[in-house]
Amino acid sequence: MPLNALQIYKLLPRTNCKECGLPTCLAFAMRLAAKQAELDSCPYVSDEAKAALAAAARPPMRLITIGSDEHKIEVGNETELFRHDRAFYHPPGLMVRVKDTQSIQEIEETVSRVDAYSVDLVGMAFGLDGIALENASGEVGAYLKALEAVQANTDLPLILMAKDPVVMAAALEKLNRTVPLIYAATEDNWSDMAGLARQHKCPLAVLEAGGLDELATLVKQVEDAGMDDIVLDPGTRGFSDSLRVLTQIRRLALRRSFHLFGYPTITFPGEGSDSAEEEALLASQHVAKYGGFIVLDRFDPATVYPLTALRLNIYTDPRVPIQMKPGIYEFGEPTADSPLLTTTNFSLTYFSVAGEIEASGIPCRLLVTDSEGMSVLTAWAAGNFDAERIAKDVKAFEVADTISHRKIIIPGLVAVIMGELEEELPGWEVLVGPREAIDIPRYLRGIWQ
Ligand code: SF4
Repeated sequence: MPLNALQIYKLLPRTNCKECGLPTCLAFAMRLAAKQAELDSCPYVSDEAKAALAAAARPPMRLITIGSDEHKIEVGNETELFRHDRAFYHPPGLMVRVKDTQSIQEIEETVSRVDAYSVDLVGMAFGLDGIALENASGEVGAYLKALEAVQANTDLPLILMAKDPVVMAAALEKLNRTVPLIYAATEDNWSDMAGLARQHKCPLAVLEAGGLDELATLVKQVEDAGMDDIVLDPGTRGFSDSLRVLTQIRRLALRRSFHLFGYPTITFPGEGSDSAEEEALLASQHVAKYGGFIVLDRFDPATVYPLTALRLNIYTDPRVPIQMKPGIYEFGEPTADSPLLTTTNFSLTYFSVAGEIEASGIPCRLLVTDSEGMSVLTAWAAGNFDAERIAKDVKAFEVADTISHRKIIIPGLVAVIMGELEEELPGWEVLVGPREAIDIPRYLRGIWQ
């Protein structure tokens, strides 16, 4: 059973030396109890206390890393069953599978497209995370040729998929980069696969479709063989069974501290679907609950884009809004006569406004104020987007030096601050813009011009 904060505190040195980065031993104990700190951060814990604290110090779900420093995927180490309880921290790796039964040209084309894929979401660049290469032929030669083609076209992390330990051993020898995920140890091959994973210091996926009891037994065998870095595949593939089983695994790991399931999972939505649309839907279910590595069988930007957006939404800490840097943003090539608008630095607000300004085709400047990442009405209600704050940023960013007129367009939602802002900015005319971003082009083309 995990220890509570007070029980842990009694086992600590209680000197409050602060070397763990926290002000007191009690604060450190509370972090340990919440699985938010590593015991190693305290250099003074005795061996006896270490043994007693092992259960409390172990994170409920292990962090698994594959790839290199430049391109790595980290999954696991989650502490919540529901994202709204705090946050999900490590987004699932979205990978695309190729098989050694495909032609080399086909493999190269798919891998190159995956490697080059990049989308811009709320000012951040996102791509796919890696390639899974399956030994569908069962032959060593075909697998090594396919691996060569993959490695020639991407540096992204890899999952090596083979049932035969001989094939896996040959692929690991030929690998020219660090840390793939080995898939998979099964009832038949786990001893050899665990040996290879240990030898090459790679995480090992464990596949057992016979049920959760059988999966736990196999994980125990692999752990006893010296493996710490494990990924779980319970073998479920459809919508309902994967939701049920992945939820059970997460619940047992977090709520019951069942350490044999304290690892991230790997899913294959293409195997539970009859079409590209179904695969995308199932993958989105796995993004939400509870895929660690999600291996797609089809690469289509039309489905990968929404999956990436969904992943960003779910794995964004709801307590920390994504913010734009405050300042003046230019659209087109604005002159001194171009309109000046203002909004908050909540990224979704910014991108809604920016998109509509661009759609208007009219060069503009947009003053993004420091509103602590809140949307317009919320920021206004919190006092972070009032006349004083806007006037302060007009001066701080020397807006008057860039325009010949003295007009500023405020969002229609905060029309109420118009008079106050004119008092804060003597000589300026404050114009009330539309309430909704979608009406900005009409406003600019009509009222402004
Ligand atoms: Fe206490 Fe150890 Fe932290 Fe020092 S490093 S304050 S002894 S928990």
